[in-house]
Amino acid sequence: MSVVRHALGSSPRAFCFSPPARVGGALLVGLALLGLTACAPRLPPADLTVINGAEPESLDPALALSIEDLRRDYDAVLLAMGLGKGSALGSNSGALDALTFLRDVKRGRIREIAGPVAVLGGGNTALDAATAALELGARDVYLVYRRSFAEMPAWPAERDRFLGKGGHILILTEPLGNVLDADGRIAGLRIRRTELGEPDSTGRRSPRPVPGTESVLAVRTIIEAIGQEVPDEIRQALSGVQFTRKGLIQVAGNGSWRTSLPRVFAAGDIVNGGSTVVQCVAEGMAAASEMDGMLRQDSN
Ligand SMILES: Cc1cc2nc3c(=O)[nH]c(=O)nc-3n(C[C@H](O)[C@H](O)[C@H](O)COP(=O)(O)OP(=O)(O)OC[C@H]3O[C@@H](n4cnc5c(N)ncnc54)[C@H](O)[C@@H]3O)c2cc1C
Repeated sequence: MSVVRHALGSSPRAFCFSPPARVGGALLVGLALLGLTACAPRLPPADLTVINGAEPESLDPALALSIEDLRRDYDAVLLAMGLGKGSALGSNSGALDALTFLRDVKRGRIREIAGPVAVLGGGNTALDAATAALELGARDVYLVYRRSFAEMPAWPAERDRFLGKGGHILILTEPLGNVLDADGRIAGLRIRRTELGEPDSTGRRSPRPVPGTESVLAVRTIIEAIGQEVPDEIRQALSGVQFTRKGLIQVAGNGSWRTSLPRVFAAGDIVNGGSTVVQCVAEGMAAASEMDGMLRQDSN
């Protein structure tokens, strides 16, 4: 949205393609829960073309337009689809994905939750999901995080807000998988204590399991918030666009937001792997300036 706004200042036409219910992106999933909906970016309707169609849960309608269609019909293309898919551990059948959970809470589709609740992860998304679970009335909500507070990526203010509402944080604890009751419903989460070893590639001390410390945390709902990734269908639709080993769009770097396809740029979470609104807006603006420069050069 920031890029379209920027581009409208210099280019005759700029179009934003997005599933309508998700215009505003992750900003609306996370921040709206804090009552900051008014901060959602707005554009005059005439400036914003939304290609829509199905519900956001189904295949994103813009995928019906191939990247080749976009390159043929537009002078430049910016890819800023964010990280729309929650990563899953694969050992927790019946677990909710935090992004879906937060979207559904926001839309009023989830109004109550079966507690106690375990939320897996230590980032802002995990804290948002855990706080939302408390606000839905769950009495005991446990955030399960395998490192210590020092490594926790969530902002201290988010952590303190959750603790202030009566949430519990189990640090140095890793999830091993769920426990189902006779009817196939979640009855618990198998957990194990960890200790911290040497720093890993991210520079954070890596957790090591402590043998013989397995136990079961009695919970009825498990929410996974262990990371976000680019949905498979988006990767498949972007043939010709190079991705990094981490599954993010590869850009030229050194201040350039060009992808491996000529005239196609990318910015935001889909490039940086997940950061902040301010960072993504700044990247989008920088990409817009670069696109603008390219278009001006072309027209001279
Ligand atoms: C739960 C949660 C809480 C957060 N809390 C904070 C916070 O407190 N402060 C903060 O600064 N940051 C926070 N963030 C991070 C911040 O929201 C993101 O870093 C930022 O919004 C990413 O911007 P983006 O434009 O790259 O992607 P997004 O905001 O994810 O936007 C991507 C857009 O692309 C659309 N899209 C997806 N697929 C397609 C497609 N195939 N075709 C067309 N359009 C498509 C989506 O519908 C969406 O509108 C939070 C994120 C989450 C998930």
